[in-house]
Amino acid sequence: MKFALQHPREQLVTIMQRIYSYEMTTTSGGNLSILEENGDMWITPAGVDKGTLRSDDIVCVAADGTVRGVHRPSSEYPFHRAIYERRPDIRAIVHAHPPALVSFSIIRQIPNTRMLPQAHAVCGTVGYAPYALPGSEELGQVIARTFAQGLDVVLLENHGVAAGGADLLGAFQRFETLDFCARTIIQASILGPVRPLTDEQIAQFECCRTALPEFDPITHSSRERELRQEICRIVRRAYDQRLMTSTEGTASARTGETSFLITPFGVDRKYLEIEDLVLVENGRRERGKAPSRAAHLHLTIYRDHPEIGSIISAQSPSSTAYSVTRKKLDTRTIPESYLVLRDIPLIPYGQQFGDGQPISDVLSRRTPVILIQNDAILATGATLAQAFDRLEVAEFSARALIDTTALGPMVPIGDKELEELEARFLV
Ligand SMILES: [Zn+2]
Repeated sequence: MKFALQHPREQLVTIMQRIYSYEMTTTSGGNLSILEENGDMWITPAGVDKGTLRSDDIVCVAADGTVRGVHRPSSEYPFHRAIYERRPDIRAIVHAHPPALVSFSIIRQIPNTRMLPQAHAVCGTVGYAPYALPGSEELGQVIARTFAQGLDVVLLENHGVAAGGADLLGAFQRFETLDFCARTIIQASILGPVRPLTDEQIAQFECCRTALPEFDPITHSSRERELRQEICRIVRRAYDQRLMTSTEGTASARTGETSFLITPFGVDRKYLEIEDLVLVENGRRERGKAPSRAAHLHLTIYRDHPEIGSIISAQSPSSTAYSVTRKKLDTRTIPESYLVLRDIPLIPYGQQFGDGQPISDVLSRRTPVILIQNDAILATGATLAQAFDRLEVAEFSARALIDTTALGPMVPIGDKELEELEARFLV
């Protein structure tokens, strides 16, 4: 069912379950609300287990303060009301205390979203609200003052984060993206300093979208329909494994010599449906649909590499830690990593834009995976399953390497052993 058509009660339960199941809140922490046109505010209750929340637990507080429902509204209701009063364009709020954002809130630093252009586009500039007593009018005022500056996400000192949006999904996406940034920066800091992007580099991302011409598909082959299902399954799985976020992650699969299916722009990766996917044929897109920003890059890769049947790119946190510190990901860890990934080159930021020709030129049978500075890891394969496996193996390798830092220096597989592996498995 389309999320926007669900009753506010259902939307709040769905998003709270999502936040709880991805370990971004505890049983007692966090609260969400939606404001209706008539001033009614639907809000999560106080003192109810967030892991088992049901739609009849949700409370409605009318504009005159009348409460309808079987529970009391969240104790943090005053700051929700204060934000809505100062920002009429905000109609939904997500607040919680996910561990990575708490880490930033207790060192009193804002996670830098400028390390990834996608994250910066989703969150914008992040605000900072000084500490005040939970549930107090004063806390409401300090948070609302920060939102009143036009900011949509605010880090709360020694507390957590609050994110607003025109709807609940928009607020959740900002919250989730900032949490992703915090988790990634924590991993990256083990490797070295995070390299933020300049204003010019961020502007490059914003202006890189040129629309492909449109066409009307006459038929949809069985193979195409099968691939639509496969792509949806893989993308939802990548989301569940936290290899993708709701707004980031691209997958495509070849349907013919000059055609492929690709994920759309702006559709939540968790709720991706087969009709959302965009067919691209002879450089034209299915009428009325917007493909991922990377459609041009995928077009170039499929044209240049007939052996490639699928491409997946994602900002999985450990691989992204390498990307934002611009460090080389050494695949000489275990035979599986070396055989599946081979050597992973680090591509300079900017080459992914336009037609992506420099990236296509780097890919080969010996180089099926690349890492793009301050962007994503891009994995190719003969099939969707192979591209996805490479994405997973890269993430596992990156995570193992980062964890190794706490234990001692890594000892790579030696040159002689690598030659032996090549001779045995890669001829
Ligand atoms: Zn709180």
